[in-house]
Amino acid sequence: MPLTEIPLPKKKHIALVAHDYKKKDLLEWCLFNKSTLAKHHLYATGTTGSLLEEKLDLPFTKLKSGPLGGDQQIGAKIAEGEIEMLIFFWDPLQPQPHDPDVKALLRLAQVWNIPVANNRSTADFLISSPLMQEIYARRVSVYERKLQDLEIEE
Ligand code: PGA
Repeated sequence: MPLTEIPLPKKKHIALVAHDYKKKDLLEWCLFNKSTLAKHHLYATGTTGSLLEEKLDLPFTKLKSGPLGGDQQIGAKIAEGEIEMLIFFWDPLQPQPHDPDVKALLRLAQVWNIPVANNRSTADFLISSPLMQEIYARRVSVYERKLQDLEIEE
C-alpha cells in the first residue's frame, strides 16, 4: 500500500486521558513535565481535563467525559488531523463501560501513526525525545477504496 507523509508540527496537539485509578499518576507526570507541556496545545477528556487544568494552571481544550463520548471525540480529531499525539494512561485492571470506545481510539491512533504513550514509562521516553521540538514526518498508508473494486453488478 502506498504511503504518504503527514507532518507533526513543532508545536504539537497533544491529547491527555487517564482512567480514574490512573489520574493521580497522570497528574504527577504532567506536573513534572509542565514546562514542556506548556509549549504545546493540550486536549483532554472531561474529568481528566478539569483536574489537569486546575492543578497545572495551563489551558486545555476539554472534550466530553470518556464514558460520554470523549474518547470518540479524540479519535475523530486524530482522523481529522487536529490531534497528533496521545498520552493515555488506561487501566488494565478495571472494567470500563466504554471499553469499545477505548479500543476504537487506540485503533485510530494506530491508523494515523501518531505517537502514543499508554503508560508512564513510555510517556517519559516520548516527552524526552528531541523530536518533541522538531517537525516530524509521520507515514500513513493511503487506503483508497475504489468503487469498481466493490464488484456491484448493474
Ligand atoms: P474522563 O474520561 O477524563 O472524563 O474521566 C477518561 C476516560 O475514561 O476515557
